[in-house]
Amino acid sequence: MDSSNSDKQNNTQSVNEDPAGVDNEFCPGFKDVDAFVKYGLGTVVAATKASASLPQVGDEYDLYRSFPGFQEFCETQGDGLLHCMSQIMHHHGCRAHMRDRNKLTGLEERFDLVVDSNDVILEKVGILLDDAAGVNRSQQPVMPAGFQPPKIVVSSWNRKVQVYSCSEKLGSETFRLLQAKNVTRPQLKFREKVDNSNTPFTPKIFVKPNAIKPLPSCRSQRPEDLDVPAALADFIHQQRTQEHVEDMFAHPYQYELDHLALPENLLSKPEPQMYKPLAETKCSFIDNLEDLVAVNEKLAKTSEFAVDLEHHSYRSFLGITCLMQISTRDEDFIIDTLELRSELYILNEAFTDPTIVKVFHGADSDIEWLQKDLGLYIVNMFDTHQASRTLNLGRHSLDHLLKLFCNVDSDKRYQLADWRIRPLPDEMFQYARADTHYLLYVYDRLRVDLWEVGNGQPALLQMVWHKSKDISLKKYMKPLFTEDSYMDLLRKQKKAFNTQQLTAFRLLYGWRDKLARQEDESTGYVLPNHMMIKISDILPKEPQGIIACCNPVPPLVRQQVNELHILVQQAREMPLLKVRHAWGHAMHWFFLQPEIPLFGPHDTSRVSESDIPSFTPDSKIYLKSIVNMNYEDTVKDPGHLTVAQQKACRVVESFQNPFRMYLPSNDIHISKNAKFDPSTKIYEISNRWKLQSVEQQQKEVEAKKKAKEEAKAVAGVASYLITLCLHFHQEPIKPGGKKRERVASETGESTPKPNKKLMKAAVKNNEDSTTPLVFKPYDYSQSDFKVFAGTQPHKNAKAQKSNACAGNRSMSFFGGKSER
Ligand code: AMP
Ligand code: MN
Ligand code: ZN
Repeated sequence: MDSSNSDKQNNTQSVNEDPAGVDNEFCPGFKDVDAFVKYGLGTVVAATKASASLPQVGDEYDLYRSFPGFQEFCETQGDGLLHCMSQIMHHHGCRAHMRDRNKLTGLEERFDLVVDSNDVILEKVGILLDDAAGVNRSQQPVMPAGFQPPKIVVSSWNRKVQVYSCSEKLGSETFRLLQAKNVTRPQLKFREKVDNSNTPFTPKIFVKPNAIKPLPSCRSQRPEDLDVPAALADFIHQQRTQEHVEDMFAHPYQYELDHLALPENLLSKPEPQMYKPLAETKCSFIDNLEDLVAVNEKLAKTSEFAVDLEHHSYRSFLGITCLMQISTRDEDFIIDTLELRSELYILNEAFTDPTIVKVFHGADSDIEWLQKDLGLYIVNMFDTHQASRTLNLGRHSLDHLLKLFCNVDSDKRYQLADWRIRPLPDEMFQYARADTHYLLYVYDRLRVDLWEVGNGQPALLQMVWHKSKDISLKKYMKPLFTEDSYMDLLRKQKKAFNTQQLTAFRLLYGWRDKLARQEDESTGYVLPNHMMIKISDILPKEPQGIIACCNPVPPLVRQQVNELHILVQQAREMPLLKVRHAWGHAMHWFFLQPEIPLFGPHDTSRVSESDIPSFTPDSKIYLKSIVNMNYEDTVKDPGHLTVAQQKACRVVESFQNPFRMYLPSNDIHISKNAKFDPSTKIYEISNRWKLQSVEQQQKEVEAKKKAKEEAKAVAGVASYLITLCLHFHQEPIKPGGKKRERVASETGESTPKPNKKLMKAAVKNNEDSTTPLVFKPYDYSQSDFKVFAGTQPHKNAKAQKSNACAGNRSMSFFGGKSER
């Protein structure tokens, strides 16, 4: 083999195979990736340790801070760190105003910056790992969902409460993100189909063990069970949900949690009970109902047990709970929550029993996942993460506690593994087991410490129980899409988008949300943020250009590139206008509100603190008017306005901008400061508008209420008429008033559509001129169908069939689709 050939090989093959030349160093000073990673992790661990040993806020910190020397030291160090972070972020092309000492861009905003940058960097890492693993989508044919090779989960690890901390042991090991190439989608086997509709989550609970306050009747009785025609059942259901909106969405165990009284023995110093060695502990994998019932029996007899969950969020819109680990003092159970998804609710018996303590570590997400997927609730929880925080242990991760109390070196390598894999590989099984095996002992030890640090008083213990209870009270919130959802993401980017880019971003965001719900994929799988931003930024003229913005190309982007192309084209048709910092600065949006182009101080209908600009494709007039107000922006194509529009513009021009006198002559930028600075005129005006707006809103609410009542009355008559009509026209009413199954409505559309069924009935009646009508039916096509349809479009017949499972034992109640 000649030298040039071997050189080539070294380049294309693994970097750490060549031990010699500096040329082949992975990067200066490091011979290969491993060496670099080892060094990197070592440094991170040292830095984390050092930072953990700094005086804590609210503790010694305040005292130290009173010394100028300390203060100065902190500031120089802080500046150095910020500089360093800025550089890294800059390197990755992220926004990096870390050193901006503006008080308004406070800690929270900087934290957001870091979170976003981490997202960007992690996404890049994901892509590179994919590339390295040979998952090169651009060469793959489009396959049906379910056959796509799964990607490594990339998400914001720093948004989690639990901090990822590397134990020393990790430095010497290579990371392995376990993933399988072909995981069958567990969703396909779910008995109750996932409800990705754009409607609020309603608790999946029909039986309520350990209830002090029974479940509201609207939960236990379903309109499907009534012997009435479908249209009427809908109507009745709608009426009921309106009556019970609060009950429908309330935390089912709110009352029990509010009235939870802790037994005395939990507020005293416990005697720690050592965990059993792994080797001597029975550990069972539970994947059938019979075994689950047995687990439930065992749990009901204990006085405490530990619980943890593993979750998958990449190939599903709402995420999937894949595994539940439970440890009692004697036994470990690994429960397959994919297999037993519809059965797990039986554990509510022990989970909501106030005399049994459930120990979690960092339960914030677990509480939500339990509700979302399994209909499970927790009454009487102790969160060891909260205990660790209360004790100021510095680091609060589970591996830290395990090291501290059990001298166990755990590692978190499998935390991000694809937990859908079945059969569960042994290493993952063991990993999962360790998450709860030691937890009851940790719970004991933490309580001892809480007792002692609290000087033999129960105050600290009480505090932890209290915080844990607050976490149990958390309600799962389904992500809801609104016209303005995209603003949150955009605001974080702080991209100076023009109107075309902004429109593209908004349209892509909507497309992505809709598709993700429909295909049951995460939005990150459909189209990662950074790609969406790139497309909006570049506005490619050709479909090929869209593909070029994505590497690797997400399968659904490839599949729907023509739709995307149309969206981008639509955006390109917007008049071009620079939108500077529209969302960063509170006042700017006044000038961008399509509804208030005149800035009339009396037009307060749309003004409120939280208002943000929303663009509609036909808001050309107002955009034009802004331009004519001479805000130094340019419109490319002024000739497109109709005569009437031009006239409107001239009228608009004749108005004075009331803010003009407070503005620099050619810059409409108003700092956020101004709005919050009571000495400014802006503050006064904005407050006045706010006040007026509140009044206005109240008026609107009252008007709406009235309208609703009137509509209700009409609806009552109408529904009766429908029933009559159905009889008159012999529309086949299924024998025995066949019970309907209510299904999750389709992916949310922003504009409610009329109930198709009702519509059909109405249209039919109108068209059917040959039949002499005894009465003239109400023309439903003209009415506000929201009253009937709960503002949600109903599923077509096919979709209804697809949910052939909302049977008696079903936990999912697909009711209450009222949009709020
Ligand atoms: P744990 O409580 O540590 O076992 O984590 C439970 C689940 O949370 C895991 O199965 C992951 O789905 C998710 N998770 C934990 N840590 C992270 C992280 N750093 N980033 C993203 N997801 C995480
Ligand atoms: Mn956990
Ligand atoms: Zn876990």
